[in-house]
Amino acid sequence: ETLNKKYTKEKYATPTGTELTCKGWVQEAALRMLLNNLDPEVAELPEELIVYGGRGKAARNFEALDKIIQGLKILEDDETLLIQSGKPVGIVPTHKDAPKVLISNSQLVPNWANWEHFDKLEKAGLMMYGQMTAGSWIYIGSQGIVQGTYETFGELARQHFGGSLKGTLNVTAGLGGMGGAQPLAITMNDGVCLVAEVENWRIEKRLQTRYLDEKIDDLDEAIDRALEAKKKGERVSIGVPCNAVHLLERLKTRNVVPDTLTDQTSAHDPLTGYIPHMISLEESLELRKSNPEKYVELAYESMVEHVKLMLELQSKGAITFDYGNNLRARAHEKGVENAFDFPGFVPAYIRPLFCEGKGPFRWAALSGDPADIKATDDLILELFPENEGLKKWITMAQDRIAFQGLPARICWLGQGEREKAGLAFNELVKSGKVKAPIVIGRDHLDTGSVASPNRETEGMMDGSDAVADWPILNALMNTAGGASWVSLHHGGGVGMGYSIHAGMVIVADGTDEAAARLRRVLRNDPGIGVIRHADAGYEIAQNTAKEHGLDMDSRLG
Ligand code: NAD
Repeated sequence: ETLNKKYTKEKYATPTGTELTCKGWVQEAALRMLLNNLDPEVAELPEELIVYGGRGKAARNFEALDKIIQGLKILEDDETLLIQSGKPVGIVPTHKDAPKVLISNSQLVPNWANWEHFDKLEKAGLMMYGQMTAGSWIYIGSQGIVQGTYETFGELARQHFGGSLKGTLNVTAGLGGMGGAQPLAITMNDGVCLVAEVENWRIEKRLQTRYLDEKIDDLDEAIDRALEAKKKGERVSIGVPCNAVHLLERLKTRNVVPDTLTDQTSAHDPLTGYIPHMISLEESLELRKSNPEKYVELAYESMVEHVKLMLELQSKGAITFDYGNNLRARAHEKGVENAFDFPGFVPAYIRPLFCEGKGPFRWAALSGDPADIKATDDLILELFPENEGLKKWITMAQDRIAFQGLPARICWLGQGEREKAGLAFNELVKSGKVKAPIVIGRDHLDTGSVASPNRETEGMMDGSDAVADWPILNALMNTAGGASWVSLHHGGGVGMGYSIHAGMVIVADGTDEAAARLRRVLRNDPGIGVIRHADAGYEIAQNTAKEHGLDMDSRLG
């Protein structure tokens, strides 16, 4: 009688406050985070249980969702709920320190690991696509992508411009769901952003949400404004309604070389994503329907031109990189031999951070009270006073990022730092300075939790890009360490057959038991990433491993 076929805000509202609806805070945290993932403020399509990333879901169907909720409510402290691709399949006796939920999503035997086979199973009701944080119940809305983009440009600034983008011109394109974070991330790093976007409504949307500062219709005026802002060292982002190719052509003609150059148009999808420059937006939308083959042909031709222009500007001195949209591969398919002359963003800017165990550490206030996040923000600033980038991020996030669902925060912390923050949060809960426990987790895009040869593990030094033992060890290790829930997924980010990755969430409920678990899990979780990169030969990782006592050889003597 509790079965429900549709999403209603009343039935699936996230509990907040200090009263338990489950038998313990760990179970309660899992329940609140599951429902938070589906909150209409957080999820793209709650009526289909879709959280984000195409069809990334939190539960397989409404029947499964209702059973998970019931299961979490009856779960004892010494039991574990098992989830198979979004459906609860059993409650088993474990012990107090064991995860309260174990999740496996979208796993297929490698020879069957493709969309075609997955689609059949999904249709038959046997599977669900978990994406990364959708099926592991720790998605926190668009704050995650803003922060990841901020880190990328921050690392670029450290590598090339002494730590700040002040006085630099940063050119890109695409103001969609993910790409829309670029102008904000660039101005947060004090630079000038000039961004092309063909769809006017996207520019308007970013202006409204204050991710973008200005819109200038005329191409030359926009370039002039950007150059003037660069000269003055102004922090500003300018959107120009045009095709990326047209912007780059104009820069080339005027001999303007940007300091940095990238792109986040949806080049991963030549038919429903990328818009070719030879025809107008209206004509594109029409052609997509009337002649899809012709459309794809034009899109490819346009992407070839796009990459050639990027290569040309790179040769003139622009620091150029691919932002995870597969643009290089498209041009390469059509004969641009040197398309891969500019690097992907992970090997260029994210990997050095991964080598120090840095990754997307995030947390949410189970009370639902924004004041609890304010208390954790203050604590983070107190714990890491020397970290200027972190200080800037927290201060700007407080000003520019609206909470979606349960108040949450993300910041990239490294080996040693995550443990320190987690234990300090636990003390905060114990002292009553926050109203309810804090739940800590991370994206699967992290240092030791993913194998994805076209993205996170592209171009590993030792050629181990496709080795998937690491995410599996990560999940096993976090289970042994006593994380609150652990998940192992397939196909997130880049699709079926292309990635294996693991999730981890741990609750700081103020108890001594939680402190012991936090100490283990938040040391080991980034630790295996440092070990993975040290093993592949990265010197930064080898040094980090030594510094934190993670290196095997010195243990063996
Ligand atoms: P989206 O589809 O929401 O937005 C893409 C935008 O690009 C649209 O607004 C579209 O109008 C615009 N566009 C398309 N062709 C264009 C052209 N030739 N010139 C100018 N504008 C054009 O996609 P999204 O979620 O913003 O993601 C963008 C791309 O980035 C995707 O390919 C995605 O896979 C990739 N991505 C990268 C990361 C990362 O961490 N690097 C993360 C997520 C997504």
